[in-house]
Amino acid sequence: MRKMTIDDKLGLNKFNVDESYSHIDVDLDYKDEAEIRKLLLACPAECYKYEDGKLLFAHAGCLECGTCRVLSHGKIVTAWRHPNGNFGVQFRHG
Ligand code: SF4
Repeated sequence: MRKMTIDDKLGLNKFNVDESYSHIDVDLDYKDEAEIRKLLLACPAECYKYEDGKLLFAHAGCLECGTCRVLSHGKIVTAWRHPNGNFGVQFRHG
């Protein structure tokens, strides 16, 4: 049996993405690579990317686990809220 990838698992969930509002605010100008690396390694949905020395973030696949909020101690994630209304993830696996 083939091992499921992160994309396989996330593909089973259903997302109702609020394109006009990110429930997580991120300081994209943050420069401390050690702190950025924590989020890259910890986010189960790979919402954080680090390319050419630039932090990137997309809330669309967020699993609302709150890990990035706890790890960043307010330094990179400057605000974390649940998505509005019926937006966000609906878990379908596990
Ligand atoms: S709440 Fe969880 S899934 Fe969403 S961006 Fe933060 S670490 Fe990733």
